[in-house]
Amino acid sequence: MKVTVHGGAREIGGSCIGVQTDDCYVALDYGTTFEESSSNQFPEDFDAIIISHAHLDHSGQLLSLSKKKPVIVGSKITREVTLALLQDMVKVQSQNDYNYPYYKHDANRIMEHWWVRDYVALPGMTIQLHPAGHVAGARMTSIHSEDKKVLYTGDFCVHDSEILDGCNTEALPKKPDVLITESTYGGKVRSPRNELVDEFFRQILAAMDRKGNILIPTFAFHRSQEMAKRIDDAMKKGVLPRYNVYTISNLANKITGYFNENKECFTKKIQRQKQPFKYSHVKHLYRTGQIKEPAIVICTSGFGHAGASLHLLKNWAEDENNSVILTSGYLPPDSPLKSAKEERRFRNNGNMVSVKAEIEQIELSGHADQLELVQMVEKLKPKRTILVHGDVEQSQALSEEIEKMTEVWIPEKGETIAI
Ligand SMILES: [Zn+2]
Repeated sequence: MKVTVHGGAREIGGSCIGVQTDDCYVALDYGTTFEESSSNQFPEDFDAIIISHAHLDHSGQLLSLSKKKPVIVGSKITREVTLALLQDMVKVQSQNDYNYPYYKHDANRIMEHWWVRDYVALPGMTIQLHPAGHVAGARMTSIHSEDKKVLYTGDFCVHDSEILDGCNTEALPKKPDVLITESTYGGKVRSPRNELVDEFFRQILAAMDRKGNILIPTFAFHRSQEMAKRIDDAMKKGVLPRYNVYTISNLANKITGYFNENKECFTKKIQRQKQPFKYSHVKHLYRTGQIKEPAIVICTSGFGHAGASLHLLKNWAEDENNSVILTSGYLPPDSPLKSAKEERRFRNNGNMVSVKAEIEQIELSGHADQLELVQMVEKLKPKRTILVHGDVEQSQALSEEIEKMTEVWIPEKGETIAI
């Protein structure tokens, strides 16, 4: 058996790992990179492609296979959301680039070959998917072939969140020959989630006292719904006073509809609610012109490089009463939010915008931190561990913590490891 890391090596973004035996060749994820400068050329002759979850850095490269009709395997909500995200990507990219090679029907065609399964048998190989936490529908993949066991985590999270149960590591296959794990937070230990949520509410209350606007850039998928639900529930319970709260993202609104229709993906508490993602205090708007200030606005893009979040960042950055709350730990190097936070200014259409608004980063992330990663290795006892989906410093920090328990590899892009 051979494992080749085609993408997601020493970086976040562009995940794709090939597992090849004498009889079978499968890909674990097929994602796009965040950085415009790097492009992906993945092999196209896979017998099947397993998509761990609907984030584009794990699924966005599928468009390049639309004419090949590969078998794709993943959960139901991963299929639905991936289609919505790919269609949106085609819409946005073709507006910016007349030569963009894909059309909406390419996204539709991909979905025709998508098997919604948790178990698949291929020649000489069985594949089992396991809930991974992280986002709705996320799965880990275990492969059994040639008497070898491989477990690929995709992105995962062990602790529970308000709407989603964490990954149950007890249910995962023990002593795999190879564990391929994400290492986004391989070098970081986070505060307990309830402390982070309290801090998040404190930041909101402080901005409310100043009658400021609060911008919360978020991803359309999962983080947007989780955030809206968090604020809606806090207002229902009186943890937060009433304030104008809006979501602005048609894509997020569409995905919220899928969430209401697929309640089984979420916690028992969510499942008992009739329309869990129908909010009492959070209103969906179609454009920023509809905002009644002061307001809390949850909007895309999550990295603040486009859409309503960039527009509001520009409008609100220069007022010290306003606040921007980032809940993702990772920001791409070229994102306006990163320079707004670190340099207190950012470039917009050639002009420098100076930042007086508060910018807080509270990592309410859906990724395992170093403690959860180490505990998983302790529990699963893998013979070898391949670290992917992490900056090299994060992977190395994790490696130091686990190298006494397992043989560790931090491969480079394109590197093949014989098992
Ligand atoms: Zn993800």
